Amino acid sequence: MIELIFATNNAHKLEEVQAIIGNKFLLKSLADIDCYDDIPETGDTFHENAKQKTDYLVERYAGLNCFGDDSGLEITALNGEPGVYSARYSGSRDMEQNINLVLEKLEGISDCRARFITVISLFLNKQQYFFEGTIEGTILSERKGVDGFGYDPIFIPNGYTKTFAEMTAEEKNKISHRAIAVQKLAAFLYKLS
Ligand code: IMP
Repeated sequence: MIELIFATNNAHKLEEVQAIIGNKFLLKSLADIDCYDDIPETGDTFHENAKQKTDYLVERYAGLNCFGDDSGLEITALNGEPGVYSARYSGSRDMEQNINLVLEKLEGISDCRARFITVISLFLNKQQYFFEGTIEGTILSERKGVDGFGYDPIFIPNGYTKTFAEMTAEEKNKISHRAIAVQKLAAFLYKLS
């Protein structure tokens, strides 16, 4: 079985991505290679941030095969904000505050188009690859639903009537930006193997 390090210590993410990738590849987390560092995410783009994660591992662990991801929400009327700052848009990681800031900034604006994006950076056999997943939708003026995380309660994907936070994890994981990017990664890995 081919081993790949996923630059995360989020066990839930690892499990979810392993399920999409299947059992030809064994994913290992940062903890599995004894890496407990807070890998910097200081780029201006999702691509830069995702690549920072794989660069970090490649430099320290002699070019091992690995991938890392970066995601966020881009709101058209806010010129793509919160973008790479999605996790701490208000200056804190508190999603209550981050959502409040988005809603405040959108007050009185009728254009509510937005998209979630995931970029995956893969470093495999000394080569760099990127995979991208996006889902377009709209931002509501108030929260709906209690499931999911992050901006899920205010995002309705196009073609649906429910927010991500009103969907089951199964429903969301079929259509999400992250699922699309991971499916592209999985298809690529299977073609190679
Ligand atoms: P990460 O790069 O996957 O850690 O995502 C960065 C931030 O983007 C998260 O902290 C969330 O605020 C936001 N985000 C990313 N994906 C999602 C999602 O599927 N739903 C809601 N918020 C998300």
